[in-house]
Amino acid sequence: MFEIVIGLEVHVQLNTKTKLFCSCATSFGSKPNTNVCEVCLALPGSLPVINKEATHKAIMLATALNAKINKKSIFNRKNYFYPDLPTGYQISQFEIPIVGLGSLEIEFDDGSKKTIGVTRAHLENDAGKNIHKGDYSCVDLNRAGTPLLEIVSEPDMRSADEALRYLKKLHSIVRYLGISDANMQEGSFRCDVNVSIRPKGETKLYTRCEIKNMNSFKFIQKAIAYEVQRQSEAWEDGTYEKEVVQETRLFDVHLGETRSMRGKEDAADYRYFPDPDLKPLVLSQEVIDKYSKIPELPDAKKQRFIQTYKIKEYDANVLISSIEMANFFEAMLKFEISPKNAVTWLCVELQARLKEGASLNECLVDAKKLASLIKHIEDGIISAKAAKEILDVLVQKEASIDTLIDELGLKQVSDDGAILAIIEEVLAKNQDKVEEYKSGKDKLFGFFVGQVMKASKGSANPAKANELLKKALK
Ligand code: ADP
Ligand code: ZN
Ligand code: MG
Repeated sequence: MFEIVIGLEVHVQLNTKTKLFCSCATSFGSKPNTNVCEVCLALPGSLPVINKEATHKAIMLATALNAKINKKSIFNRKNYFYPDLPTGYQISQFEIPIVGLGSLEIEFDDGSKKTIGVTRAHLENDAGKNIHKGDYSCVDLNRAGTPLLEIVSEPDMRSADEALRYLKKLHSIVRYLGISDANMQEGSFRCDVNVSIRPKGETKLYTRCEIKNMNSFKFIQKAIAYEVQRQSEAWEDGTYEKEVVQETRLFDVHLGETRSMRGKEDAADYRYFPDPDLKPLVLSQEVIDKYSKIPELPDAKKQRFIQTYKIKEYDANVLISSIEMANFFEAMLKFEISPKNAVTWLCVELQARLKEGASLNECLVDAKKLASLIKHIEDGIISAKAAKEILDVLVQKEASIDTLIDELGLKQVSDDGAILAIIEEVLAKNQDKVEEYKSGKDKLFGFFVGQVMKASKGSANPAKANELLKKALK
Protein backbone atom coordinates (compact mmCIF):
# COMPACT_ATOMS: atom_id res chain seq x y z
CA MET A 1 0.00 0.00 0.00
CA PHE A 2 1.12 3.53 -0.77
CA GLU A 3 1.08 6.68 1.21
CA ILE A 4 0.43 9.95 -0.63
CA VAL A 5 2.73 12.89 0.09
CA ILE A 6 1.69 16.40 -0.87
CA GLY A 7 3.37 19.77 -0.43
CA LEU A 8 1.86 23.02 -1.69
CA GLU A 9 3.30 26.28 -2.94
CA VAL A 10 0.57 28.90 -2.85
CA HIS A 11 0.91 32.19 -4.67
CA VAL A 12 -1.17 34.91 -3.11
CA GLN A 13 -1.41 38.15 -5.01
CA LEU A 14 -1.29 40.94 -2.46
CA ASN A 15 -3.90 43.67 -2.89
CA THR A 16 -1.50 46.57 -2.57
CA LYS A 17 -2.39 49.71 -4.50
CA THR A 18 0.89 49.63 -6.43
CA LYS A 19 3.36 47.05 -7.68
CA LEU A 20 6.14 45.53 -5.58
CA PHE A 21 9.04 47.63 -6.87
CA CYS A 22 7.45 50.61 -8.65
CA SER A 23 4.41 52.84 -8.35
CA CYS A 24 2.36 51.39 -11.21
CA ALA A 25 -1.21 50.42 -10.37
CA THR A 26 -2.00 46.74 -9.77
CA SER A 27 -5.59 46.88 -11.05
CA PHE A 28 -6.90 43.88 -12.93
CA GLY A 29 -8.41 44.13 -16.41
CA SER A 30 -6.87 47.41 -17.64
CA LYS A 31 -5.99 47.88 -21.31
CA PRO A 32 -2.82 45.87 -22.09
CA ASN A 33 0.49 47.57 -21.29
CA THR A 34 -1.05 50.65 -19.68
CA ASN A 35 0.06 50.00 -16.09
CA VAL A 36 3.76 49.94 -16.87
CA CYS A 37 6.81 52.11 -16.26
CA GLU A 38 10.57 51.98 -16.75
CA VAL A 39 10.98 49.70 -13.74
CA CYS A 40 8.48 47.01 -14.74
CA LEU A 41 9.63 47.27 -18.37
CA ALA A 42 13.25 46.88 -17.17
CA LEU A 43 14.53 49.91 -19.07
CA PRO A 44 18.25 50.52 -18.54
CA GLY A 45 19.05 52.62 -15.51
CA SER A 46 15.75 52.03 -13.72
CA LEU A 47 15.94 50.93 -10.09
CA PRO A 48 13.47 49.01 -7.92
CA VAL A 49 12.15 50.38 -4.62
CA ILE A 50 10.37 47.99 -2.23
CA ASN A 51 6.68 48.63 -1.52
CA LYS A 52 6.20 49.01 2.25
CA GLU A 53 2.57 47.98 2.14
CA ALA A 54 3.57 44.56 0.78
CA THR A 55 5.98 44.01 3.68
CA HIS A 56 3.24 44.94 6.16
CA LYS A 57 0.92 42.38 4.62
CA ALA A 58 3.63 39.74 4.90
CA ILE A 59 3.93 40.51 8.63
CA MET A 60 0.17 40.05 9.00
CA LEU A 61 0.30 36.66 7.35
CA ALA A 62 3.27 35.61 9.48
CA THR A 63 1.26 36.48 12.59
CA ALA A 64 -1.72 34.44 11.41
CA LEU A 65 0.52 31.42 10.79
CA ASN A 66 2.42 31.83 14.06
CA ALA A 67 5.50 32.11 11.92
CA LYS A 68 8.89 33.54 12.52
CA ILE A 69 9.40 37.01 11.03
CA ASN A 70 12.89 37.60 9.76
CA LYS A 71 13.83 41.13 10.74
CA LYS A 72 16.35 41.11 7.97
CA SER A 73 15.57 39.37 4.70
CA ILE A 74 17.23 39.37 1.31
CA PHE A 75 15.96 39.79 -2.24
CA ASN A 76 17.52 37.52 -4.83
CA ARG A 77 17.48 37.39 -8.57
CA LYS A 78 16.04 34.18 -9.96
CA ASN A 79 17.31 34.03 -13.52
CA TYR A 80 15.33 32.58 -16.38
CA PHE A 81 14.27 33.66 -19.81
CA TYR A 82 10.67 34.05 -20.89
CA PRO A 83 9.03 36.73 -23.07
CA ASP A 84 6.76 37.92 -20.26
CA LEU A 85 9.75 38.69 -18.04
CA PRO A 86 11.53 41.78 -19.39
CA THR A 87 14.30 41.77 -16.76
CA GLY A 88 15.38 38.22 -17.53
CA TYR A 89 15.08 37.47 -13.83
CA GLN A 90 12.40 37.46 -11.19
CA ILE A 91 13.09 39.29 -7.94
CA SER A 92 12.31 36.79 -5.21
CA GLN A 93 13.69 35.69 -1.87
CA PHE A 94 15.75 32.58 -1.39
CA GLU A 95 17.86 31.76 1.64
CA ILE A 96 16.38 34.40 3.94
CA PRO A 97 12.70 35.05 3.19
CA ILE A 98 10.61 37.61 5.10
CA VAL A 99 8.52 34.87 6.75
CA GLY A 100 10.14 31.77 8.26
CA LEU A 101 8.80 28.60 9.85
CA GLY A 102 5.13 28.59 10.85
CA SER A 103 2.11 26.31 10.79
CA LEU A 104 -1.55 26.02 9.98
CA GLU A 105 -4.11 23.79 11.64
CA ILE A 106 -6.68 21.98 9.55
CA GLU A 107 -9.85 20.47 10.94
CA PHE A 108 -11.76 17.37 9.81
CA ASP A 109 -15.50 16.80 9.83
CA ASP A 110 -15.30 14.75 13.04
CA GLY A 111 -13.63 17.70 14.78
CA SER A 112 -10.14 16.15 14.87
CA LYS A 113 -7.25 18.36 13.87
CA LYS A 114 -3.88 18.18 12.17
CA THR A 115 -1.07 20.70 12.02
CA ILE A 116 0.55 21.33 8.65
CA GLY A 117 3.99 22.89 8.69
CA VAL A 118 4.61 26.05 6.71
CA THR A 119 8.23 26.17 5.64
CA ARG A 120 8.36 29.81 4.63
CA ALA A 121 6.68 32.65 2.79
CA HIS A 122 8.55 35.01 0.56
CA LEU A 123 7.85 38.15 -1.43
CA GLU A 124 8.38 38.15 -5.17
CA ASN A 125 7.12 39.94 -8.24
CA ASP A 126 4.82 38.37 -10.77
CA ALA A 127 5.62 38.13 -14.48
CA GLY A 128 3.47 39.54 -17.30
CA LYS A 129 1.18 37.48 -19.47
CA ASN A 130 1.66 35.95 -22.89
CA ILE A 131 -1.53 35.89 -24.89
CA HIS A 132 -1.43 33.39 -27.73
CA LYS A 133 -3.40 34.20 -30.88
CA GLY A 134 -3.12 31.66 -33.64
CA ASP A 135 0.35 31.90 -35.15
CA TYR A 136 1.56 34.84 -33.07
CA SER A 137 1.59 35.85 -29.42
CA CYS A 138 1.17 39.12 -27.56
CA VAL A 139 2.80 40.17 -24.32
CA ASP A 140 0.86 42.17 -21.72
CA LEU A 141 3.08 43.53 -18.96
CA ASN A 142 0.35 45.01 -16.76
CA ARG A 143 0.80 42.17 -14.30
CA ALA A 144 4.61 42.31 -14.39
CA GLY A 145 5.79 43.46 -10.99
CA THR A 146 2.58 42.69 -9.09
CA PRO A 147 3.44 41.58 -5.54
CA LEU A 148 3.09 37.92 -4.68
CA LEU A 149 3.53 36.21 -1.38
CA GLU A 150 4.51 32.62 -2.01
CA ILE A 151 3.61 30.38 0.91
CA VAL A 152 5.44 27.06 0.87
CA SER A 153 4.19 24.15 2.97
CA GLU A 154 6.08 21.17 4.31
CA PRO A 155 5.24 17.89 2.54
CA ASP A 156 2.82 17.15 5.39
CA MET A 157 -0.44 16.38 3.60
CA ARG A 158 -1.44 12.76 3.05
CA SER A 159 -4.51 13.04 0.83
CA ALA A 160 -6.28 15.37 -1.59
CA ASP A 161 -8.78 15.99 1.20
CA GLU A 162 -6.05 17.29 3.52
CA ALA A 163 -4.61 19.44 0.73
CA LEU A 164 -8.01 21.00 0.05
CA ARG A 165 -8.64 21.67 3.73
CA TYR A 166 -5.26 23.37 3.95
CA LEU A 167 -5.93 25.47 0.86
CA LYS A 168 -9.42 26.49 1.93
CA LYS A 169 -8.17 27.46 5.37
CA LEU A 170 -5.32 29.50 3.92
CA HIS A 171 -7.70 31.08 1.42
CA SER A 172 -10.05 32.16 4.15
CA ILE A 173 -7.19 33.46 6.32
CA VAL A 174 -5.85 35.78 3.62
CA ARG A 175 -9.39 37.02 3.00
CA TYR A 176 -9.95 37.60 6.73
CA LEU A 177 -6.67 39.47 6.92
CA GLY A 178 -7.73 41.52 3.90
CA ILE A 179 -4.29 41.16 2.31
CA SER A 180 -5.56 39.68 -0.96
CA ASP A 181 -8.86 39.38 -2.73
CA ALA A 182 -7.78 35.77 -3.35
CA ASN A 183 -9.99 35.58 -6.41
CA MET A 184 -9.21 32.18 -7.87
CA GLN A 185 -10.68 32.79 -11.34
CA GLU A 186 -8.53 35.88 -11.74
CA GLY A 187 -5.52 33.94 -10.49
CA SER A 188 -4.85 35.96 -7.36
CA PHE A 189 -4.79 32.72 -5.33
CA ARG A 190 -3.16 29.88 -7.22
CA CYS A 191 -0.91 27.01 -6.34
CA ASP A 192 1.64 24.47 -7.43
CA VAL A 193 0.82 21.01 -6.15
CA ASN A 194 3.75 18.69 -5.42
CA VAL A 195 2.80 15.03 -5.31
CA SER A 196 4.73 11.85 -4.58
CA ILE A 197 3.95 8.40 -3.25
CA ARG A 198 5.87 6.00 -1.05
CA PRO A 199 5.32 2.57 0.48
CA LYS A 200 3.38 2.92 3.73
CA GLY A 201 5.67 3.05 6.73
CA GLU A 202 8.63 4.61 4.94
CA THR A 203 9.75 8.07 5.99
CA LYS A 204 12.02 8.82 3.06
CA LEU A 205 10.61 11.19 0.42
CA TYR A 206 10.32 9.82 -3.10
CA THR A 207 10.39 11.71 -6.38
CA ARG A 208 7.82 14.49 -6.62
CA CYS A 209 6.01 15.86 -9.59
CA GLU A 210 4.93 19.45 -9.49
CA ILE A 211 1.58 20.33 -11.04
CA LYS A 212 1.79 24.00 -11.90
CA ASN A 213 -0.62 26.88 -11.64
CA MET A 214 -3.81 25.37 -10.32
CA ASN A 215 -6.61 27.74 -9.43
CA SER A 216 -9.66 25.61 -8.80
CA PHE A 217 -10.29 23.35 -5.79
CA LYS A 218 -12.14 20.89 -7.97
CA PHE A 219 -9.32 20.55 -10.48
CA ILE A 220 -6.70 20.31 -7.74
CA GLN A 221 -8.56 17.31 -6.36
CA LYS A 222 -8.76 15.71 -9.81
CA ALA A 223 -5.12 16.42 -10.62
CA ILE A 224 -3.95 14.80 -7.37
CA ALA A 225 -6.12 11.74 -7.97
CA TYR A 226 -4.75 11.37 -11.49
CA GLU A 227 -1.14 11.83 -10.42
CA VAL A 228 -1.41 9.34 -7.55
CA GLN A 229 -2.94 6.80 -9.91
CA ARG A 230 -0.23 7.37 -12.53
CA GLN A 231 2.58 7.03 -10.04
CA SER A 232 1.22 3.94 -8.30
CA GLU A 233 0.53 2.19 -11.58
CA ALA A 234 4.10 2.89 -12.69
CA TRP A 235 5.30 1.43 -9.37
CA GLU A 236 3.28 -1.71 -9.83
CA ASP A 237 4.33 -2.09 -13.46
CA GLY A 238 7.98 -1.73 -12.52
CA THR A 239 8.36 1.42 -14.61
CA TYR A 240 8.48 3.86 -11.69
CA GLU A 241 12.14 4.82 -12.17
CA LYS A 242 11.52 5.68 -15.78
CA GLU A 243 8.05 7.24 -15.60
CA VAL A 244 8.20 9.17 -12.37
CA VAL A 245 10.87 11.81 -12.67
CA GLN A 246 11.20 15.18 -11.01
CA GLU A 247 9.33 17.39 -13.43
CA THR A 248 6.77 20.09 -13.88
CA ARG A 249 3.41 18.89 -15.15
CA LEU A 250 0.30 20.63 -16.37
CA PHE A 251 -3.25 19.55 -15.65
CA ASP A 252 -5.41 19.36 -18.75
CA VAL A 253 -8.91 20.22 -17.60
CA HIS A 254 -10.54 18.73 -20.69
CA LEU A 255 -8.80 15.36 -20.53
CA GLY A 256 -8.62 15.30 -16.73
CA GLU A 257 -4.96 14.25 -16.88
CA THR A 258 -1.60 15.74 -16.02
CA ARG A 259 1.13 15.76 -18.62
CA SER A 260 4.78 16.58 -18.65
CA MET A 261 5.62 20.20 -19.38
CA ARG A 262 9.34 20.33 -18.69
CA GLY A 263 11.99 18.74 -16.54
CA LYS A 264 12.07 20.34 -13.14
CA GLU A 265 14.85 22.80 -12.73
CA ASP A 266 16.89 22.72 -9.55
CA ALA A 267 17.68 25.83 -7.56
CA ALA A 268 21.15 25.79 -9.15
CA ASP A 269 19.64 26.28 -12.61
CA TYR A 270 18.29 29.65 -11.57
CA ARG A 271 21.66 31.09 -10.57
CA TYR A 272 20.17 32.80 -7.55
CA PHE A 273 22.18 35.71 -6.23
CA PRO A 274 21.35 38.71 -4.03
CA ASP A 275 19.95 41.55 -6.11
CA PRO A 276 22.62 44.27 -6.05
CA ASP A 277 19.93 46.90 -6.68
CA LEU A 278 18.14 46.16 -3.40
CA LYS A 279 19.48 46.44 0.10
CA PRO A 280 18.50 43.81 2.67
CA LEU A 281 14.94 44.40 3.82
CA VAL A 282 15.06 45.43 7.48
CA LEU A 283 11.91 45.54 9.61
CA SER A 284 11.86 47.52 12.85
CA GLN A 285 10.25 46.04 15.96
CA GLU A 286 7.85 48.96 15.87
CA VAL A 287 6.57 48.05 12.43
CA ILE A 288 6.36 44.38 13.34
CA ASP A 289 4.34 45.18 16.47
CA LYS A 290 2.03 47.45 14.54
CA TYR A 291 1.15 44.93 11.85
CA SER A 292 1.02 41.93 14.17
CA LYS A 293 -2.29 43.26 15.44
CA ILE A 294 -4.48 41.34 13.05
CA PRO A 295 -8.27 40.99 12.73
CA GLU A 296 -10.13 38.06 14.28
CA LEU A 297 -9.38 34.85 12.36
CA PRO A 298 -11.86 32.10 11.37
CA ASP A 299 -11.19 29.77 14.34
CA ALA A 300 -11.58 32.50 16.94
CA LYS A 301 -14.69 33.81 15.23
CA LYS A 302 -16.21 30.37 15.23
CA GLN A 303 -15.69 29.91 18.96
CA ARG A 304 -17.12 33.33 19.66
CA PHE A 305 -20.19 32.67 17.49
CA ILE A 306 -20.88 29.39 19.27
CA GLN A 307 -20.49 30.90 22.72
CA THR A 308 -22.18 34.25 22.17
CA TYR A 309 -25.04 33.25 19.93
CA LYS A 310 -25.52 29.64 21.09
CA ILE A 311 -25.54 28.28 17.57
CA LYS A 312 -24.52 24.81 16.45
CA GLU A 313 -20.92 24.10 15.50
CA TYR A 314 -22.06 23.04 12.04
CA ASP A 315 -23.78 26.38 11.48
CA ALA A 316 -20.80 28.28 12.85
CA ASN A 317 -18.60 26.48 10.32
CA VAL A 318 -20.85 27.54 7.47
CA LEU A 319 -20.93 31.14 8.70
CA ILE A 320 -17.18 31.53 9.08
CA SER A 321 -16.43 29.89 5.74
CA SER A 322 -16.29 33.37 4.26
CA ILE A 323 -15.72 36.72 5.90
CA GLU A 324 -18.63 38.24 3.95
CA MET A 325 -21.01 35.66 5.38
CA ALA A 326 -19.70 36.10 8.92
CA ASN A 327 -20.03 39.88 8.70
CA PHE A 328 -23.48 39.66 7.15
CA PHE A 329 -24.61 37.40 9.99
CA GLU A 330 -23.39 39.74 12.70
CA ALA A 331 -24.84 42.76 10.92
CA MET A 332 -28.25 41.06 10.94
CA LEU A 333 -28.14 40.44 14.67
CA LYS A 334 -28.02 44.19 15.33
CA PHE A 335 -31.74 44.14 14.51
CA GLU A 336 -32.62 41.89 17.43
CA ILE A 337 -33.70 38.78 15.64
CA SER A 338 -33.02 35.25 16.80
CA PRO A 339 -29.56 33.97 15.79
CA LYS A 340 -31.08 30.66 14.79
CA ASN A 341 -33.43 32.35 12.32
CA ALA A 342 -30.57 34.50 11.08
CA VAL A 343 -28.52 31.37 10.30
CA THR A 344 -31.36 29.66 8.44
CA TRP A 345 -32.37 32.64 6.38
CA LEU A 346 -28.82 33.59 5.49
CA CYS A 347 -27.21 30.18 4.97
CA VAL A 348 -30.16 28.33 3.49
CA GLU A 349 -32.78 30.66 2.02
CA LEU A 350 -30.69 33.58 0.77
CA GLN A 351 -27.80 31.35 -0.28
CA ALA A 352 -30.12 29.21 -2.39
CA ARG A 353 -31.34 32.30 -4.20
CA LEU A 354 -27.91 33.71 -5.04
CA LYS A 355 -26.72 33.22 -8.57
CA GLU A 356 -24.03 30.57 -8.89
CA GLY A 357 -20.72 32.05 -7.81
CA ALA A 358 -22.24 35.44 -6.93
CA SER A 359 -20.96 37.10 -3.78
CA LEU A 360 -23.15 38.27 -0.93
CA ASN A 361 -21.87 41.80 -1.41
CA GLU A 362 -23.45 42.01 -4.85
CA CYS A 363 -26.81 40.75 -3.63
CA LEU A 364 -29.73 43.22 -3.57
CA VAL A 365 -30.73 41.95 -0.15
CA ASP A 366 -28.45 43.36 2.53
CA ALA A 367 -28.26 42.39 6.19
CA LYS A 368 -30.78 45.02 7.24
CA LYS A 369 -33.36 43.89 4.72
CA LEU A 370 -33.04 40.21 5.49
CA ALA A 371 -33.21 40.95 9.21
CA SER A 372 -36.34 43.01 8.66
CA LEU A 373 -37.93 40.13 6.75
CA ILE A 374 -37.18 37.80 9.65
CA LYS A 375 -38.55 40.33 12.09
CA HIS A 376 -41.83 40.30 10.15
CA ILE A 377 -42.04 36.54 10.72
CA GLU A 378 -41.06 36.74 14.36
CA ASP A 379 -43.72 39.41 14.94
CA GLY A 380 -46.37 37.23 13.34
CA ILE A 381 -47.03 39.62 10.47
CA ILE A 382 -46.22 37.08 7.78
CA SER A 383 -45.68 33.35 7.71
CA ALA A 384 -42.32 31.78 6.86
CA LYS A 385 -43.85 30.57 3.64
CA ALA A 386 -44.89 34.10 2.70
CA ALA A 387 -41.42 35.37 3.57
CA LYS A 388 -39.91 32.95 1.08
CA GLU A 389 -42.18 34.31 -1.61
CA ILE A 390 -41.11 37.84 -0.73
CA LEU A 391 -37.44 36.89 -0.75
CA ASP A 392 -37.86 35.49 -4.26
CA VAL A 393 -38.80 39.00 -5.36
CA LEU A 394 -36.28 40.87 -3.22
CA VAL A 395 -33.27 39.13 -4.80
CA GLN A 396 -34.56 40.15 -8.22
CA LYS A 397 -35.40 43.81 -7.69
CA GLU A 398 -35.25 46.68 -5.28
CA ALA A 399 -38.58 46.65 -3.37
CA SER A 400 -40.03 47.35 0.04
CA ILE A 401 -41.10 44.41 2.16
CA ASP A 402 -44.30 46.08 3.36
CA THR A 403 -45.34 47.01 -0.17
CA LEU A 404 -44.78 43.43 -1.27
CA ILE A 405 -46.83 42.07 1.61
CA ASP A 406 -49.74 44.24 0.46
CA GLU A 407 -49.28 43.62 -3.23
CA LEU A 408 -49.04 39.87 -2.87
CA GLY A 409 -51.73 39.73 -0.18
CA LEU A 410 -49.48 37.90 2.24
CA LYS A 411 -50.49 39.53 5.48
CA GLN A 412 -51.06 36.91 8.08
CA VAL A 413 -54.38 36.78 9.92
CA SER A 414 -53.69 37.01 13.64
CA ASP A 415 -57.04 38.42 14.62
CA ASP A 416 -58.74 36.03 17.11
CA GLY A 417 -62.22 36.52 15.73
CA ALA A 418 -61.32 35.74 12.15
CA ILE A 419 -59.37 32.62 13.08
CA LEU A 420 -62.06 31.40 15.48
CA ALA A 421 -64.63 31.65 12.70
CA ILE A 422 -62.51 29.39 10.53
CA ILE A 423 -61.96 26.96 13.39
CA GLU A 424 -65.66 26.64 14.06
CA GLU A 425 -66.29 25.95 10.41
CA VAL A 426 -63.60 23.25 10.33
CA LEU A 427 -64.84 21.56 13.49
CA ALA A 428 -68.44 21.62 12.28
CA LYS A 429 -67.42 19.90 9.07
CA ASN A 430 -65.48 17.22 10.89
CA GLN A 431 -67.72 16.21 13.75
CA ASP A 432 -66.65 12.55 13.54
CA LYS A 433 -62.98 13.47 13.93
CA VAL A 434 -63.81 15.75 16.85
CA GLU A 435 -65.45 12.79 18.63
CA GLU A 436 -62.42 10.59 17.95
CA TYR A 437 -60.11 13.31 19.24
CA LYS A 438 -62.14 13.70 22.40
CA SER A 439 -62.07 9.96 23.00
CA GLY A 440 -58.26 10.11 23.14
CA LYS A 441 -56.89 10.16 19.60
CA ASP A 442 -54.53 13.09 20.28
CA LYS A 443 -52.73 12.65 17.00
CA LEU A 444 -55.68 14.22 15.20
CA PHE A 445 -54.66 17.63 16.48
CA GLY A 446 -52.26 18.02 13.55
CA PHE A 447 -55.10 17.23 11.18
CA PHE A 448 -57.19 20.10 12.56
CA VAL A 449 -54.30 22.55 12.33
CA GLY A 450 -53.78 21.52 8.73
CA GLN A 451 -57.47 22.02 7.91
CA VAL A 452 -57.53 25.46 9.53
CA MET A 453 -54.42 26.56 7.63
CA LYS A 454 -55.91 25.24 4.43
CA ALA A 455 -59.25 26.95 4.96
CA SER A 456 -57.44 30.24 5.57
CA LYS A 457 -55.38 29.69 2.40
CA GLY A 458 -52.26 29.69 4.53
CA SER A 459 -52.85 33.15 5.92
CA ALA A 460 -53.71 32.20 9.50
CA ASN A 461 -50.97 32.79 12.04
CA PRO A 462 -50.03 29.19 12.91
CA ALA A 463 -49.16 29.91 16.53
CA LYS A 464 -52.48 31.65 17.02
CA ALA A 465 -54.35 28.91 15.21
CA ASN A 466 -52.75 26.31 17.47
CA GLU A 467 -53.61 28.15 20.61
CA LEU A 468 -57.21 28.81 19.65
CA LEU A 469 -57.74 25.28 18.38
CA LYS A 470 -56.58 23.82 21.66
CA LYS A 471 -59.12 25.91 23.51
CA ALA A 472 -61.91 25.12 21.06
CA LEU A 473 -61.34 21.39 21.35
CA LYS A 474 -61.43 21.35 25.13
P1 ADP B 1 10.55 24.53 -5.90
O1 ADP B 1 10.25 25.98 -6.02
O2 ADP B 1 11.76 24.08 -6.57
O3 ADP B 1 9.37 23.68 -6.27
P2 ADP B 1 10.22 24.74 -3.07
O4 ADP B 1 11.16 24.36 -1.97
O5 ADP B 1 9.80 26.15 -3.20
O6 ADP B 1 10.88 24.20 -4.39
O7 ADP B 1 8.90 23.88 -2.93
C1 ADP B 1 8.91 22.52 -2.86
C2 ADP B 1 7.54 22.05 -2.44
O8 ADP B 1 7.46 20.68 -2.69
C3 ADP B 1 7.26 22.21 -0.96
O9 ADP B 1 5.92 22.55 -0.75
C4 ADP B 1 7.55 20.83 -0.39
O10 ADP B 1 6.79 20.53 0.75
C5 ADP B 1 7.14 19.95 -1.54
N1 ADP B 1 7.85 18.67 -1.61
C6 ADP B 1 9.17 18.48 -1.53
N2 ADP B 1 9.47 17.18 -1.67
C7 ADP B 1 8.30 16.51 -1.86
C8 ADP B 1 7.94 15.15 -2.10
N3 ADP B 1 8.82 14.19 -2.18
N4 ADP B 1 6.62 14.88 -2.26
C9 ADP B 1 5.70 15.83 -2.22
N5 ADP B 1 5.98 17.12 -1.99
C10 ADP B 1 7.27 17.48 -1.82
ZN1 ZN C 1 6.00 50.05 -13.06
MG1 MG D 1 7.76 24.49 -6.93
